Amino acid sequence: MKVLLTGGSGFIAAHVVERLLSRGYEIVTTVRSPAKGSFITSKYPSARISIAIVEDISQPSSFDDVIKKHSPLDAVIHTASPFHYNVQDNEKDLLNPAIMGTTSVLRALKQYGGDSVKRVVITSSFAAMTNPANPPDVYNEDAWNPMTWEDAVTTKNPQVAYRGSKKFAETAAWDFIEKEQPLPFTLTVLNPPFVFGPILHELKSLDSINTSNKRALNIIQGKKHEGPIGSSLYVDVRDLAEAHVRAVEPKYAAAQGKRIFMTAGPFTDLYVAERIREKFPSIRERITDDLLQNLGEKSAPMKFEVDNSRSKEVLGMEYRSTEETITDTVQSLLDHAKAK
Ligand code: NDP
Repeated sequence: MKVLLTGGSGFIAAHVVERLLSRGYEIVTTVRSPAKGSFITSKYPSARISIAIVEDISQPSSFDDVIKKHSPLDAVIHTASPFHYNVQDNEKDLLNPAIMGTTSVLRALKQYGGDSVKRVVITSSFAAMTNPANPPDVYNEDAWNPMTWEDAVTTKNPQVAYRGSKKFAETAAWDFIEKEQPLPFTLTVLNPPFVFGPILHELKSLDSINTSNKRALNIIQGKKHEGPIGSSLYVDVRDLAEAHVRAVEPKYAAAQGKRIFMTAGPFTDLYVAERIREKFPSIRERITDDLLQNLGEKSAPMKFEVDNSRSKEVLGMEYRSTEETITDTVQSLLDHAKAK
């Protein structure tokens, strides 16, 4: 199988690369610069990986040349999308790249991909499901973020704008599939909440840590929580990467056409801090009683249930324990800190 993976330099995508290679698949992956590509190819010198440069997915024709050059492809996994809160302009920095990145890859596939591509998987998010003001009793795949376009464009809160980018990108994907039939491929959308886990991608310094692992890093560094705590659901990056790969495999045909909520369940910052105290004596003193009290106050109990049964039914997911995820995340961050 030959798979196009967008955003190969990212935290999640690095694990998808590893899973695809472990199955013996050929990969074409897009990155923004040749240097980012070299990091990947030098990590896997004997693997079948081609690098394609796509500097900015905000352009309508971003993926045209890649698809023309590398077809025939069997499947596409689209992970590239901005996930950061360093935002000056909601549309330019978050909404446009998220939405255009999604529609440009789908459009290029339709125009230039021939009929070889059978499966497309897109990494959406719990951000496209969440309704913090009025949560359902049980979150499942029926849940949609109710945010309006105007809210997404005008909010001064970058986390809210990010959630809008994921909602409108996912909506654009499903609209495309509905309106552009006949298409040779089906769509599967994965909706993970906070993703934690070991770091495989190039990390030049801990300051440039990806957004979700930053939450664990803050606790390792003994930082208190200032503002309100957002989503406290999580999934392990290794489980999520496995789901991306299964979703393109014929064996998991039931995933086709589905939106899949990918979560192992809830966690709290207090739990993370307590595990650090228990398992990492070298940094135990950073987890002060004061910090535990702060995190305990901020780690309010969830007001909803979660239903991840579809991920188990159609992708056969078995999630790692919270303890394994948190322990391996902390260990990986400490290893990186030591290596710098
Ligand atoms: P990363 O920031 O590590 O990866 C994002 C990837 O997208 C990087 O390869 C990045 O390239 C690329 N990218 C971002 N903006 C552009 C752009 N304008 N043009 C080209 N490439 C771009 O984040 P994650 O791995 O965590 O996220 C991957 C996907 O998973 C995203 O779609 C994200 O929304 C989603 N997700 C992540 C969650 C999490 O907790 N981590 C939770 C739910 C969903 P570069 O590094 O060169 O900027």
